[in-house]
Amino acid sequence: MKVLKFGGASVKDTEGVKNAANIIKSQSGEKLVVVVSAMGKTTNAFEGVLESHLNRSDEVFNQLEAIKSFHFEVCNELFENKQNPIFQELHNTFVEAEWQIEDEPIGNRGFEYDQLIGLGELFSTKILTAYLKLIGIENAWVDARDIVRTDNTYQAAKIDWEETERLIQQKLATIAQDIIVTQGFIGSSSENFTTTLGREGSDFSAAIFASSLNAKEVVIWKDVEGMLNADPKYYGSTVKLENISYKEAIELAYYGASVIHPKTVKPLENKKIPLYVKSFKNPSTSGSLIDGNSSKDCDIPSYIHKENQILVSFSSKEFDFIDELRLSEIFQLFSDIGLSVNILQNSAISFTVAFDFDKAKIEELRKAVSDKFRVVYNEGATLITIRHFTEQIIADLLKGRTVLLEQRTRSTARFVLT
Ligand code: ASP
Ligand code: MG
Repeated sequence: MKVLKFGGASVKDTEGVKNAANIIKSQSGEKLVVVVSAMGKTTNAFEGVLESHLNRSDEVFNQLEAIKSFHFEVCNELFENKQNPIFQELHNTFVEAEWQIEDEPIGNRGFEYDQLIGLGELFSTKILTAYLKLIGIENAWVDARDIVRTDNTYQAAKIDWEETERLIQQKLATIAQDIIVTQGFIGSSSENFTTTLGREGSDFSAAIFASSLNAKEVVIWKDVEGMLNADPKYYGSTVKLENISYKEAIELAYYGASVIHPKTVKPLENKKIPLYVKSFKNPSTSGSLIDGNSSKDCDIPSYIHKENQILVSFSSKEFDFIDELRLSEIFQLFSDIGLSVNILQNSAISFTVAFDFDKAKIEELRKAVSDKFRVVYNEGATLITIRHFTEQIIADLLKGRTVLLEQRTRSTARFVLT
């Protein structure tokens, strides 16, 4: 049994759906669980719908209509027969969204987010399952909300592993078809409300299915040829990482490499399930392999680039030390506000930390600490992490730049730069 995961970019339009179907066809003959994200930028578009809904803006109807007509257009291109049940299915699912935005907001943003945004994955999978049937590929559509059980931490739901494993095994055992199509990113709480696992969480979903079913392998189909050693957006020449270990992949994802969702690797490592990252544009090329082999981890230096950082320094107003109690108060605040720390450093009287810039959250933080701490900022900074660096790489990187913060271990060098 294999798990194939198709991200939003791979199913962003009619051609994308056809291409994904071809890849699935080429792998058939084997049991497959196909995990799919929302099409293209649907999740972002739904976030726009939610904002308008919460602000009671009339734009909300146009925004939802745009998502709807995009999906119907794709269906019109894929299905010549307008009696195909997919049209009615899509219509019915959109009605759920329409009901939600017609009602007054209920004052629970996270809850509303998950009920609305999770619909994107329902559309994409309904379209794919119908298209596979149309071209003669038997498959079963499964609602991930019936088998992925979470708590009710909306927008970042935590998996109930024991229950999820039981449900996945039990449900999938009753399905006769070899190919199962299901959604990434969504699950449901024990009260049967939709929950989401956090943005880009579909990779993690693929790992949940693979781990629960002891899959032979997972393939994540991307618009790049595998895991690259740097983001081509920022670095002129990049190299594909042919084979890295689970541990190295976890480190890279932790530091912010955006190729796979950070939570994806651990469940696969626990079950020793190999993970391939391959290009949906060139499906026959080898891609990258992440498995237990660490012998090649150090061969190629990797660069992880995070723009738009804000460096915040706290110093005690009374010039006493920033001790454990003070630090625990500060960290409690970060967690309450939802700020996640990208790098931190402390000295006797000050404590410095970098976050992704988020104006509202930073302002909330400043207000909360202003009576106890003096707070100094540096906006517009860049955080660069280099795994397996050389002195030459660092010298080249730092040429003409100001270093605001620097940390090195044997394998990793990190700089906050302007
Ligand atoms: N559709 C969701 C998102 O865009 C989940 C995913 O793509 O992994 O964040
Ligand atoms: Mg995606």
